[in-house]
Amino acid sequence: MNIKEIRQLFPILDQQVNGKDLVYLDSSATSQKPFPVIEAVSTYYKEYNSNVHRGVHTLGTRATDQYEGAREKVRKFINASSIEEVIFTRGATTALNFVASSYGRASLKQGDEIVITYMEHHANIIPWQQAAKATGATLKYIPLQEDGTISLADVEATVTSNTKIVAVMQVSNVLGTINPVKEIAKIAHQSGAVMVVDGAQSTPHMKVDVQDLDCDFFAFSAHKMCGPTGVGVLYGKKALLENMEPAEFGGEMIDFVDLYESTWKELPWKFEAGTPIIAGAIGLGAAIDFLEDIGLENIYKHEHSLAEYALDKLSGTEGLTIYGPKERAGILTFNLEDVHPHDVATVLDAEGIAVRAGHHCAQPLMKWLKVSATARASFYLYNTEEEVDKLADALIRTKEYFTNVF
Ligand code: PLP
Repeated sequence: MNIKEIRQLFPILDQQVNGKDLVYLDSSATSQKPFPVIEAVSTYYKEYNSNVHRGVHTLGTRATDQYEGAREKVRKFINASSIEEVIFTRGATTALNFVASSYGRASLKQGDEIVITYMEHHANIIPWQQAAKATGATLKYIPLQEDGTISLADVEATVTSNTKIVAVMQVSNVLGTINPVKEIAKIAHQSGAVMVVDGAQSTPHMKVDVQDLDCDFFAFSAHKMCGPTGVGVLYGKKALLENMEPAEFGGEMIDFVDLYESTWKELPWKFEAGTPIIAGAIGLGAAIDFLEDIGLENIYKHEHSLAEYALDKLSGTEGLTIYGPKERAGILTFNLEDVHPHDVATVLDAEGIAVRAGHHCAQPLMKWLKVSATARASFYLYNTEEEVDKLADALIRTKEYFTNVF
């Protein structure tokens, strides 16, 4: 499939915003959805909307088959060894909260350490802050190199024999840094710690193999990888999940309920209390089929070359600071001298260009960068060099506009 054919599968891209062709450069916040995903979700509602697991009627069986079929697609997509290790959640945030509460709070004690990095998303910071407060454990940060990368020497210096949990993002949603999580997992394991990977920004863009990474937990969201909002995945190694208590309780996750005691279903269902996210999981399954049809390697190559093109094109722009390393995923975070990023985003929006401005749910990283906010353009499989050109031209005009007005 060429880029034109890919774009035609995303109906939302074919529109004008403020009188200009839409240039959507905010896929790190959420990606757009192709027809196959929209159709999978609407077919569920139109043809076989029904609850799963409990019913014996035809619609219920079809819904269960599709829902559990999506779990198998996820298993293969991340190369988990069994479906028992694939839990559907509301998203990466919920998945990380489950780990911090069900694993973290139950296993941590005073004197233990949780190690994260300065570049983490709030979803991989606050659950650990709370777990540390609840248990008396200490939260420690791996420092960043000047270019926004992590050195393994710093990981080794931070992780000690007291470290019980190391939690790191695979790709930074701000800097685009690709972290060596496989090597970090090795260091964590040498100290007897478990490795948690926030894969929210990697899974949409590159082939992930949880067994090769040898991580203990891995979290991601469907909506950043062409799937629906409100659904995500927690992968966990079976041996760990088996010994964890569920994070939520109620229907669907029980085996037997008596007046004062209950027992849980087997994995993975003991972690899926209540009616699950049926349409969302089915949509995620369709998103996986779609991404695999195009090929994760092709997607990665395309975005990587767009990021390089954008870096080349923009790095000479007067007054433009670009944050993060040269080798990066398709994310470009920047500030224009003397122009607030919200103003940058507003002016770009007037030209039909959607970029994000703010702290990107990474306030500790903003502190490290010594800024309160930045603007961010993020690329996905449907973006083109022509769109990067439009961004570059619009940024020059934005700079001129603010120089002349103020
Ligand atoms: N982790 C990273 C790196 C992210 O970029 C995001 C979302 O922006 C999340 C976690 C949280 O994902 P969600 O809001 O889908 O739960």
